[in-house]
Amino acid sequence: MADKADIAGDYIEQSLELSLENQRSQPKAYNHTPYCEECGDEIPAARREALPGCQCCVSCQQDLELARRTRG
Ligand SMILES: [Zn+2]
Repeated sequence: MADKADIAGDYIEQSLELSLENQRSQPKAYNHTPYCEECGDEIPAARREALPGCQCCVSCQQDLELARRTRG
């Protein structure tokens, strides 16, 4: 009886650790570099937090959107 309870406890602990590990590793997976792909400037942490996965700084993003819009 006691053994079974221990096993269940271990299992819950393990899955908790796993989900915490996933939460911790996810942002890194799609935001591996804090630098703008276009100009190489550092992207402000606030922008990276607001837009996880963004790869351009604010001014380059505006340029890209403007280019997309003018190109039609
Ligand atoms: Zn830039």
